[in-house]
Amino acid sequence: MKTKFKKEKLTKKEWREAVTILRHECPPHYPVKARRVKVPDDIYGDTDLKELKNGKRFFMIRVSQELSKAETLEVLVHEWAHAISWTSGHGRIRDHGAEWGLAYASAYRAIYQVD
Ligand SMILES: [Zn+2]
Repeated sequence: MKTKFKKEKLTKKEWREAVTILRHECPPHYPVKARRVKVPDDIYGDTDLKELKNGKRFFMIRVSQELSKAETLEVLVHEWAHAISWTSGHGRIRDHGAEWGLAYASAYRAIYQVD
């Protein structure tokens, strides 16, 4: 989706706050690194389970740096839900089933403070 209007971006501070809230309230099985970067045109973001040479694992969440404030938070919540629902080390799954849905709900509540 492209828009010709200049979009308000999430500030660095707001981004850090959102990631900190998610780390505290919805900690996935492995640590998470979340970055706003350039991503391929056909995606808004993605999540990967990475492994270091020492065997330590972490999730890498990438969110497109082109997105507006609202879109950035939506994609972060969406991708964070993947990290929460991937509790075993089974690599990359593009699944939006029930387990992901529950994870999405908890990440959504953490960010949007819905009771
Ligand atoms: Zn997804």
